[in-house]
Amino acid sequence: MTKKGALIVISGFSGAGKGTIVKKLLSDYDRFSLSISMTTRAPREGEVNGREYFFVSKEEFEKTIAEDGLLEHASYLGNYYGTPKAYVESEMAKGKDVILEIEVQGALQIKEEFPETVLLFVTPPSAEVLKERLVGRGTESMDVVEKRLRRAKEEAEIMDRYDMILVNDDLEEAVKNAVALIDAAKTSPQRCKDFVARIREELGSL
Ligand code: 5GP
Repeated sequence: MTKKGALIVISGFSGAGKGTIVKKLLSDYDRFSLSISMTTRAPREGEVNGREYFFVSKEEFEKTIAEDGLLEHASYLGNYYGTPKAYVESEMAKGKDVILEIEVQGALQIKEEFPETVLLFVTPPSAEVLKERLVGRGTESMDVVEKRLRRAKEEAEIMDRYDMILVNDDLEEAVKNAVALIDAAKTSPQRCKDFVARIREELGSL
């Protein structure tokens, strides 16, 4: 139908285990590519420029927006985050399914512009587990943990606009469900709109 790869957005509460699901999708399947975002936040210990993120200044980020170099962008807890356009487009053209690990505002922008995008929302089984994971990670101050919890409450208001809620208590199961949905989405009418248009035209001339 179309050989172009699909666009897949993975969001979720901070501490939900999005990263684990993404790593497993990338290691178990050849078909996926991961988009590396641009951000103005400072690198955390162990993060490498060009691997976790492209770490840039606010000026550089704003210049990229002005040059229309981002597919979407949003601000999250005081920093800018955005998806560089060129890489995503070239990987999709190669037939790769491209994963964007982004927050909810960016996800909705993408869905608006590309309705065939698959939106996955990752959550732990309960709010209690979420809090334990955030505190247990130990990489952030209590102030940041509080901010992330507040943000989670806002995100919970939007999570029902996603195509799938992935409860991350069984990794294998979550990954299996994600792949099944991505496969199904490949034959959605939105994605096959060129085919639908062509066959309608053909039928019209019969
Ligand atoms: P962190 O600073 O913890 O790495 O990421 C904070 C949030 O920003 C996470 O929810 C992450 O998924 C999101 N994020 C990362 N890259 C992007 C991006 O390119 N665009 C948007 N909208 N959100 C992003």
